[in-house]
Amino acid sequence: MAAIYLDYAATTPVDGQVAARMQPWLGTHFGNAASAHGYGAEAARAIEAARAATAALIGAPPRDLVFTSGATESNNLALFGMARGAAARGRHIVTSAVEHKSVLDPARRLERAGFQVQYLRPTRAGTVDPDRLRAALRPDTTLVSLMHANNEIGVINDLAACGAVCRERGVPLHVDAAQSAGKLAIDVAAMNIDLLSLSAHKFCGPQGVGALYVRQSLRAVLEPLQFGGGQECGLRSGTLPVHQIVGLGAAAELAQALCLSEAARVASLRDRLQAGIAALPGVVVNGGDAARVPGILNVSIAGVNGESLVAGLAELALSTSAACNADSDETSYVLRALGRDAELAQASLRLSLGRFTTERDIDAAIAAVCREVPRLRALAETPLPGGEGWSSGRAGTRALGTEIGWALRWLGDTLAEIRYAAYGGADTLRACAWLGAKLRGRTRQDAQQGGPLEWARELSIPDRHLGELLVVEDALRAALAKGGTGDKMPGAARP
Ligand code: PMP
Repeated sequence: MAAIYLDYAATTPVDGQVAARMQPWLGTHFGNAASAHGYGAEAARAIEAARAATAALIGAPPRDLVFTSGATESNNLALFGMARGAAARGRHIVTSAVEHKSVLDPARRLERAGFQVQYLRPTRAGTVDPDRLRAALRPDTTLVSLMHANNEIGVINDLAACGAVCRERGVPLHVDAAQSAGKLAIDVAAMNIDLLSLSAHKFCGPQGVGALYVRQSLRAVLEPLQFGGGQECGLRSGTLPVHQIVGLGAAAELAQALCLSEAARVASLRDRLQAGIAALPGVVVNGGDAARVPGILNVSIAGVNGESLVAGLAELALSTSAACNADSDETSYVLRALGRDAELAQASLRLSLGRFTTERDIDAAIAAVCREVPRLRALAETPLPGGEGWSSGRAGTRALGTEIGWALRWLGDTLAEIRYAAYGGADTLRACAWLGAKLRGRTRQDAQQGGPLEWARELSIPDRHLGELLVVEDALRAALAKGGTGDKMPGAARP
């Protein structure tokens, strides 16, 4: 059975109506919009219709929209394009510490190229304070870049207030609206937004297409990132992907038509999910103190490791933190910026829902979380016996993600019984269960054999988890070193 999809903040399924509108452009309609013949003219007309539909979603004039490959490219174009284009006027940029990597990474690169970037710290609620923004602006500030809704916790920045501050000082405001476009009402004129990034695959359109809104007056300032055929008024050269752009336009039309009813429906599902999970003790809702987009719920659950929780929830497709950070083990910089300690930050779960999520999905998700959290907590809290015949050892800390305890009962020189308490990632828990079974009946000498490298090989555990296996080993060796008969094991301590 397919897993229940609760990762809409990472990407959304393409709406069937959108796919149907794209289909002809993958078949009989295949012209290059720049060609002078009928095929080209037909493609150009479809692109202009999509431009109008996408622009309508954010209250922009269609001519101010530049099609891109998605929000990452739009953010890169906005940051590099504005910084370089306005460099003669100033080299100071303001953004926030909780932006998406596709803003933070260009910002870091600009710093290396001699620009100064100020990273606003969010309030405890996770949003940008307009007064802090005002205080950060300088005469040489050439761009402010802020997200509308945060991709990890869903909190919404007060853009109208931030836009007013920027307008007051004459500084252009760029908004990363990847998580809000198609979900929240956006009006670039009323909110004083000068540039805005959006991405089709976040609102049931296809992946790989998005747009950057560029206010007419900034068109001459923005420096392009790629050069060639001069498409999109020279701001983004390259043959326009007609099927993708038609998909973006269709998704924008649908999102605009559904916006209000969907927002209310999804928010009520999110509230149901939140209430169900928060019924467990030790749950903190991240971003719960601010207005949030309807579809994102981020919780920290004390006493469980987020990664092993996700692994245990195999019937749900969701993530511990943003999908874009999924390859790294670092804890969420967004949650850390909110003031969560390392243990709570790594024990986070992002559940994001959308157009095709049902009440049944939500109830199944609540049931799964309420089953798995107590199971993992019980494993971490397993009481370790002591006293006659037992030896025990512990290592690691929860703040670092792994804490293991072993208790060994000896019959003479033989391990008669093994118990362990384990807090850690899924591979760590797997290694403990495997070791626990494997070591029973071994002599002390035997039990000393092997170590993280062999265990990782046997269990196909990736190298990046070797550090956690070292904690398992430290705890085990501490227990083995004591021995049951009181005599220290020679060579038990690792050099
Ligand atoms: N900004 C935010 C806030 C996002 O959530 C994402 C998607 N994870 C992006 C930018 C990048 O968008 P894309 O996948 O379209 O490049």
